[in-house]
Amino acid sequence: MPPLFTVRPLPALARRLLFLLACAGLLTAPHARAAASAAFTIEPRLLGRTLNAAQRATVQEAAARVSALIASPFVPVRLDAPAGDCDQGLPRLRETARQFVVFVIVKNLEDDLYATGMPCDLRDGSFLPMYGTIELNSDGLNDLPRADLLDTMIHEFLHTLGVGTLWEAEYRVSVSGDPDGRTFVRRVGRQLYYTGPRALAAYRALGGREVGVPLDPDAGHWAGDAVCSEILSGSAGEFTGRVNPVSPLTLGALEDLGYRVNRAAGAPFRLPTGRSCATQVTPKPGAPQARPPAGFSSCAAARAAGATLPLRRGQPGYRPELDGDRDGLACENRP
Ligand SMILES: [Zn+2]
Repeated sequence: MPPLFTVRPLPALARRLLFLLACAGLLTAPHARAAASAAFTIEPRLLGRTLNAAQRATVQEAAARVSALIASPFVPVRLDAPAGDCDQGLPRLRETARQFVVFVIVKNLEDDLYATGMPCDLRDGSFLPMYGTIELNSDGLNDLPRADLLDTMIHEFLHTLGVGTLWEAEYRVSVSGDPDGRTFVRRVGRQLYYTGPRALAAYRALGGREVGVPLDPDAGHWAGDAVCSEILSGSAGEFTGRVNPVSPLTLGALEDLGYRVNRAAGAPFRLPTGRSCATQVTPKPGAPQARPPAGFSSCAAARAAGATLPLRRGQPGYRPELDGDRDGLACENRP
């Protein structure tokens, strides 16, 4: 058995990162390119506890939305792995996958997080994932509003594609054990930045001026206080009640990994001005103010009220909208 690429993040990272991966075949070897290929489709396979029909539909919708971002064809790939190889909940794999398979294992994670994801083997040559896994926390799942489950699953499927999970050289090792050597993360002092060229260009086009796109300390999410409401933001901060947008930053990150993307599938997006997420949203003149949901309207409001941060899920004041990385801790980042 060749050394199989499995992300085994440090325990601390494992708690933080919603790791995932997926695959597509843009930068494939010539022989692979000659293989029959099809439109890129994520195929979620549910394992573990049963989801209700609405939850299953939401998972499917998230998979479809992420699939629609990818313009590269999916090159069929041979999956051959013993049971439990990438995740202990996985069956033995012996098949030729014609879609990007993501195993979604629903179980009690016994932790305050919504989901985690992991990349499984990476293709030789392209270093794109061959399949992926998501562990979805069954605890509290029935209380999770549809928009939050959809947002979480889109976020996780992006991780399966390598966004936020294949940014550092240590993870970029193919199924045969070949290292890619590239890294998209740069550290300046204590701050981490994403420096992949396409996402960086998108950041510049949006007016971003730092040396790279600011990242959370886990090196796998946009810094919530610098990018704010975005599908890959860590602490998304002030605003939501909706599915966070897939911005040109995340589309650029997909391109940096080697996917072609459907630019039109992205959402309109603006960076906040200064360091306030509130400046990201331009209210329509005369539009009625939405009634704030239960919990603090923003992390700033929580701080102003003297709340002990971070807010934990289940604690007064906690709102999923303030918990961008969905780990059950809201407002973790100090301004
Ligand atoms: Zn994540």
